[in-house]
Order: sequence, then C-alpha cells, then structure tokens
Amino acid sequence: MGKTVCIIGAGVGGLMAGAFLAKKGYQVTVLEKATKVGGSAGSYVRKGRTFPTGATIAFGLEERGLLDTLIKELQLDLPFQLLQHPMDIILSDRRISIYQDQKRWDEELQQVLPERQKDVQTFWKKLEQISEYVYGVTATGVSMPISRPYDLGKLPSHALTHPKAMLHLARYATWTVEDLLRKYHLESYEPLRQLIDAQLMDAAQTDCTEAALLPSSLALAIYRRGSFYIEKGMGQLCEVLAERIVELGGEVILAATVKELTYEQKKWHVTSRKRSGEFDIVINNTGISFGKGTSYADSDSFSWGAFRVDALLKDSFWHQELQGRPLPFALQIVPSKEQTVLFSDVHGPVYATFQPAYDGQGEKVLEEIMMTISIHANEDGWRKESKDVYKAIKQQITDAMFKEIQKVINIKDYLIYEESGTPLTYKKYMGKTSVGGFPLTVRNAITKPKSVRSSLPQLYIVGEQAFPGPGTLSSALSGYHAARAIMHTHHLK
Ligand SMILES: Cc1cc2nc3c(=O)[nH]c(=O)nc-3n(C[C@H](O)[C@H](O)[C@H](O)COP(=O)(O)OP(=O)(O)OC[C@H]3O[C@@H](n4cnc5c(N)ncnc54)[C@H](O)[C@@H]3O)c2cc1C
Repeated sequence: MGKTVCIIGAGVGGLMAGAFLAKKGYQVTVLEKATKVGGSAGSYVRKGRTFPTGATIAFGLEERGLLDTLIKELQLDLPFQLLQHPMDIILSDRRISIYQDQKRWDEELQQVLPERQKDVQTFWKKLEQISEYVYGVTATGVSMPISRPYDLGKLPSHALTHPKAMLHLARYATWTVEDLLRKYHLESYEPLRQLIDAQLMDAAQTDCTEAALLPSSLALAIYRRGSFYIEKGMGQLCEVLAERIVELGGEVILAATVKELTYEQKKWHVTSRKRSGEFDIVINNTGISFGKGTSYADSDSFSWGAFRVDALLKDSFWHQELQGRPLPFALQIVPSKEQTVLFSDVHGPVYATFQPAYDGQGEKVLEEIMMTISIHANEDGWRKESKDVYKAIKQQITDAMFKEIQKVINIKDYLIYEESGTPLTYKKYMGKTSVGGFPLTVRNAITKPKSVRSSLPQLYIVGEQAFPGPGTLSSALSGYHAARAIMHTHHLK
C-alpha cells in the first residue's frame, strides 16, 4: 500500500499539492470544510448565480509561465483569456490604464505622469528588469528557506548561466520598493507613490515603505506580464485540480470540517465531520491552527482580512466608456479622504471587477454582468460589535465603496442585486478571518520566509501563508514545493 496523504483545505495550494502527489501515486484525501472547493479562489451559489469567493484575475498562464507549466504537467484543461487592458487605477487626481502592450504602456506612463516623465520611465524599466530576474529564479522551482538540496530546484544551473541576474538580486535582496523610488528621487512624487501603493496593497499586502523589492517587483509587473480571466471564473482552476485528483485515484470530500489533529506512533490521526482516519502525511492548507506548529497562524506576522460586495448589473453597463476608453476588467480606486469609514476598519484601494455572469449550473446569463468589490479589512473590530452596530458599519462601508465607484462610472442605474460580506463572513464559510497571507516585507519574504515544511514530523503547510506568499500563483507554487518535498522525503515503496 502507498503512502497516505491527508490535505486539510481545498484551496489552490492544497489542491495543487494533492494533484502532483496523486499523479506520483500517493493516496490523497482532501478534506474541505465548505460545500465547494477553492477557498478564496473558489465560488459559491447564491440567488441562482455563481459568485467568486475572492480571486478573479489569474497570473502565470502565459506560454511557459509559472502556472502554465504546472497545469500542463498535470494535463489540465483550463480555458482562459488574456486581458489586454486588465486594470485602471484611479488616483486622487488622475487615472492610469494598465496595458499589456509595451508601446501603449510606455505612452500611458508618459502621458499620465508627465511631471517626472524621464525618471518614471527609468524607474519602471529598472523595476521590470528586476522582476524578470525574480521570475527567472522563481521558475527554477527554488523554495525558500533553502534547507535541503531539492529546495534549490534548478537554481544552481540558472545561477551559472545568469550571473548578472544573480548579482542584481543579491544587491537588491534587502531593499524595499521605497528604496528603489529613492534611488530615482521619486519617493516624494505623490502620483507614482499612490499608484504603487494601490497595487502593492492588493498584491503584496503592504505599501512601498515595507514591501520587499524583489517579490514586489514581480507583483507590480505581473499585471502586464500576463493577467488572465479564467472562463466561468477563477474557481474553475480549483474545480479542475479537484477533478484531476479524483481521476488519479484520490478523493475530495466536501463539508468535511477537520476538528482535530493528533500524532501518535508515526501517524497523524485526523478527525473530521465526515471522515476520520490515520495518515502518513498531513498537509495543512487552511491557514488555521490545529495545535502548536501546525500552521503559521500563531506567528507574530500581521495578516489582512477582506470586506467584499457581490453585485449583478444589467448588461447594458458594458456599453459605457470610461473617459472615452473601453472599460477595463478591474478598477482600483484610491478612496478620497472624506470617506473616513474607508480609513477605519477597512483600508486600501477599492477594488472592483466586471465579468460575465453565470447561473448556478454554470450557464452564462447574457443579460447580466457580475461585479465584485473588495477592500482590505482589519479583522479585529468586527467580533466585538453588537449585531446592530455591526449591521450599520457594514452598510456604511458598502455605501462608501459604491460611492467611490459611482464617482468613476455609473453603476447606480444598472444595479440589480448586491450583498456584502465582512471578515466574519469569511470566518463562517472558510474558518478564518485573515485571507490575505502575510505582507511581503523583507522579513517575511527574504530573511525569514515561511517553509512548506513545518517543525512537526510528516506535516507540511501550504497556501498563502507559506513561501512565496499571497495570491493564487504563489499558493499554487507552495503546493508544488510541498509535493516535491514529500516525494523526496517520504518515498513510495
Ligand atoms: C477578496 C479577495 C480577492 C482576491 N483576488 C485575487 C486575484 O484576483 N488574484 C489572485 O491571484 N489572488 C487573489 N486573492 C488571493 C487568493 O485568493 C489567495 O491568496 C489564495 O486563493 C489562497 O489560497 P490557499 O491555498 O492559501 O487556500 P485558501 O483559499 O485559504 O483555502 C483554504 C481552504 O481551507 C478550508 N478550511 C478551513 N478550515 C478548514 C477545516 N477546519 N477543515 C477543512 N477545511 C478547512 C477553507 O474552507 C478553504 O477552502 C484574493 C483574495 C481575496 C480575499
């Protein structure tokens, strides 16, 4: 009999690990709390429509991209589209469109940031060069912290053939994004700073003062390197991963909340609502703790929650233009200071996406558009409020977010349905309030990255808490790293 692996949580990280392990011949059992797979890259059905739980844009799907390589190895069928114009960022006094096309992007930077045109161009060129080097190293499969030879992946041969890139990375290893802004005397140039902070808050969970330059260069450049809309929504990635696990002989059990985890006689005993049993290896993808050492949830690193609104708009909304340009897939709006409620329990840019609507059976609803809106939320306050205060704050935040979008484009006249969720909503459905992973500070990303190997025997940690960090692409990579570590350590007979 082969080795048995229990994966707790069917997020991207856990499912990616499960698919690689099942492919290799491990007996994989995934136990998921919710009634659908995907976690914050999943979906849920409400009022006859399929809404995303969180993630909407995929990265790394370009030919030979980081995610493309993984899904090809697993022979997954995942239809998607490249977004040529993924996003507009609305700053306090101007708007910047992100274009995939290099020429359009260069022109956009020049037109929108004219005051410091030359420095901005040089800064952005450097940022993209660093991001290329980081992408190259990430593609080697290196997993940090490096404590076993296999953690290196193909890094040694890459280093030999790319010495210049390695020297650059060594030079910038402990820099923050603000350090690079300073190098070009741009640290006080407010529009560029606002643009970078808005992007970093979503992608790196912190702003330029703290964000480590190396992973952040990738986070900032990745929208242009390749942003993708997965047909029927991001949840499809997790659905096809789960299907692959089952096809390879594994099982994915839904509504199977894990309650307890104990280790005895070199076996993990997992107790869940639907299935309990002994396993050789456990992978925790939940981001929650089942006791000391089982997750990084107890670490001293701060992590954000999210406040989300799901909405349906009439399809005539598509025909609107934004100051003479077609609508992008997403809007990232830096809220105005008057909206004080958006600077209290919630924080950061208001992030809205527009995508086709699907019903509960996965059929397109032609006369509707799905809109999601989110903002970072500090999870602390919500639990302490009385029911009435909780409801009132929730409404105030929702209204303020709508107001911010309405300033940019008319949604009021097209709105069919809307419903908000706080960090406590995430807690109810996903078991945790922190859904942002740890901010990509120099400490979290470079000097003390969080390993997929835990301090406990035969127990691994994957997902947005582990290296390389937050986001679907990083979570997927952590799953791959954990699967590789397991294959090297716990051999099949
Ligand atoms: C609002 C929002 C928008 C986002 N947008 C994007 C985006 O556009 N692009 C992008 O790349 N990333 C985005 N992200 C980030 C991305 O969604 C996450 O980083 C990623 O999906 C996390 O994956 P994970 O592997 O850590 O698993 P998670 O998604 O954290 O899943 C954990 C799973 O564990 C399950 N679980 C919890 N407790 C138990 C238990 N006791 N027993 C069994 N199962 C349990 C949960 O139900 C869940 O399914 C967004 C996140 C949010 C919140």
